[in-house]
Amino acid sequence: MDSQIYFLGTAGSDAMQSQLRSSAGIILKLDGFQIHIDPGPGTLTRAKDYGINLKHTDLILVSHNHLTHCNDMNALIEAMTYSGLDKRGILIGDEATIYGSNFDKPILTRKHTTYLEKINSLKVGERINLGTIKIQGLKTKHSAEYGIGFKIFTDKFILTYTGDTSYFSGLKEEYLDSNILIANTVKPFNSKDEHNLNSEDVVKIVNDVKPQLTIITHFGKQMLSAQPTYEAREIQRLTKIQTIAAKDGFAIDPVSYSPKLRQKMLDRY
Ligand SMILES: [Zn+2]
Repeated sequence: MDSQIYFLGTAGSDAMQSQLRSSAGIILKLDGFQIHIDPGPGTLTRAKDYGINLKHTDLILVSHNHLTHCNDMNALIEAMTYSGLDKRGILIGDEATIYGSNFDKPILTRKHTTYLEKINSLKVGERINLGTIKIQGLKTKHSAEYGIGFKIFTDKFILTYTGDTSYFSGLKEEYLDSNILIANTVKPFNSKDEHNLNSEDVVKIVNDVKPQLTIITHFGKQMLSAQPTYEAREIQRLTKIQTIAAKDGFAIDPVSYSPKLRQKMLDRY
């Protein structure tokens, strides 16, 4: 299975408002199957800038209803379905994004509901089977009531996307067996955030879970000032696990990029 990860946007929380970086989400291409994770502000323009054809999107994953994760979801549905002329595609998201909650209206509009082939809300621990790919909802501790992370099972690797969460002791069990960890690391070392991960939290998680590759993204202002590349180097030094700081427009084939991941794949066969 050919795989490629594209980071269209890498800004989280307060870095989005001033557009220090974009929050257009992450594209995962698996053997031609195109997944768009968390299409925040700038999705359509950044996809155009980086040569990603949104019409080829097969699956949208939305972790929660904060704007940096879902703001352009309806626009993406519009793009991938030719404004509903071609009813297709799957949306998997947290309950509040799709159906709303006691506090919030749904992000998905009634019109865009009719454009899609399949819509699934996902709860923590639930798993949806899409042929060779399976998607599982992961627990988060964040300021979004129904927020989730995603564990994506492919025939080559298990990729975990944390979504927005703060650190809690159960994270190890949630992320167990992950080969690739994409961690929304809003804050740097020596900083506090009760709703999000900082670099110290990522060190704890990586030491517990031992993925073959860690990618940090979703940076807040303070993290950008501390320089994500420096933070990634420090996380790598402390965990001995290859760690990359994503940049807008950054693309990798994780298997060819990471010797350890490649070795893990070879060991399996
Ligand atoms: Zn959030």
